Amino acid sequence: MAEIISSFWGPVTSTTDCCEKNYAYSSYIAEFYNTISNIPTILLALIGLISAHTQRFEKRFCVLHLSIMAFAIGSMLYHATLQHVKQQSNETPMMWEILLYIYILYSPDWHYPRTMPIFLCLYGAIFAIVHSVLRFGIGFKVHYVILSLLCIPRMYKYYIYTDDVCAKCLARLYVATLLLGSLAWLSDLVFCNKISSWPINPQGHALWHVFMGFNSYFANTFLMFCRAQQCGWSPRIVRLMGVLPYVKIQKPKRQ
Ligand SMILES: [Zn+2]
Repeated sequence: MAEIISSFWGPVTSTTDCCEKNYAYSSYIAEFYNTISNIPTILLALIGLISAHTQRFEKRFCVLHLSIMAFAIGSMLYHATLQHVKQQSNETPMMWEILLYIYILYSPDWHYPRTMPIFLCLYGAIFAIVHSVLRFGIGFKVHYVILSLLCIPRMYKYYIYTDDVCAKCLARLYVATLLLGSLAWLSDLVFCNKISSWPINPQGHALWHVFMGFNSYFANTFLMFCRAQQCGWSPRIVRLMGVLPYVKIQKPKRQ
């Protein structure tokens, strides 16, 4: 892709380069919209973190929100610089996040509860090392999709066993944002040549970031609701400032 302003970070070394024109607005930010579009994800994860921490949810949910913030910050670094090492600071936390989802979804029924976190931590650590050495390209994406697919049957099970209308609505919003985000991401990828000739670029990849920020928030809120129900904490979905849904719990007095 042609560079208009001189680039502070040097030549592009990342394995993927999105449709947005590089260094169009600043010599310090390679892809401006793809960088700033990660801010909603960070803010939503921060709201989730405060909600999980102040209501004393299990630590796994705080770690989950923190890992989403880490990967959004990694994504900002990557899109701002288009350097391979920053690309990994985006991809490696993505992998940790999906391992956390597997833990949250499957640990309540796991026969050996102590071995599961050890196995997943080792898996995440070994992946980070191997990925930094071998620099998986398409291999990373295939691996990520396979792990994501593992989460779907359990998410579906939670969905059909939940009676709460508002919680079910969260799960539907999760699917809707995933579909809209994927559509935006694919359009940016497939129709880049056409889009580049348009007077205004719709910034499909930046839209994907925004949709996926909400997607993670809805997924986490739904999982917090399901977990609170399992623990008998009488959860209900309320709205922050009348808009953003979050889980309010009432723990029994003896706890
Ligand atoms: Zn991105």
